[in-house]
Amino acid sequence: MSCVNSSVCKLCRRENMKLFLKGDRCYTDKCAFERRPYPPGQHGQSRLKFSEFALQLREKQKAKRYYGLSEKQFRHYFELADKSKEITGTKLLKFLELRLDNVVYTLGFANSRREARQLIGHNHFLVNGKRVNIASFITKKGDVIEVSQASKEMDKILSAIQAVSRRTIPSWLEANHTALKGIVKDAPTREDVTIPVEESMIVEYYSR
Ligand code: SF4
Repeated sequence: MSCVNSSVCKLCRRENMKLFLKGDRCYTDKCAFERRPYPPGQHGQSRLKFSEFALQLREKQKAKRYYGLSEKQFRHYFELADKSKEITGTKLLKFLELRLDNVVYTLGFANSRREARQLIGHNHFLVNGKRVNIASFITKKGDVIEVSQASKEMDKILSAIQAVSRRTIPSWLEANHTALKGIVKDAPTREDVTIPVEESMIVEYYSR
């Protein structure tokens, strides 16, 4: 069945990009955005003009939805990034990428970031040998992420691994799907972040 009418798929059409919110389906021709790549609604196909503010807002919304965060959570990362010595937009993206839920999903142990959050919350993962059930945990270079011993046969995790061949695992991560382990080899660089977002517009949005 197509997910054209799914509310999460409408978010992709609203943001005019694939946000990968539906797991394996996102990588198939059932993807609603592949079928109808324009905003939902009666006037979806008409040409839209955006003010600068609206463009900044859209970039912020796009990134927030892609990583599945609330406004409060997203703003928190902006504030942390703003205090850092790195370029604010780049640091913001690094925080988002290094969250444990994003790392678990990107390594292929979950079908979506939302599923990764559920699995982490239910104690299915270890970081450096210790149980971590906080999806917002920020990983760092050298961290080893592992499926806990009791969860190694879990259908959800095994089926996610089977489906991962449809995606590319970025070079800052290394996955061992046989051992159900992954390593954060390094912090991601800006070039490693694949979401098509203008982070400078997000910075401008919060700096108004
Ligand atoms: Fe739906 Fe996934 Fe396609 Fe987005 S990328 S429209 S969530 S199937």
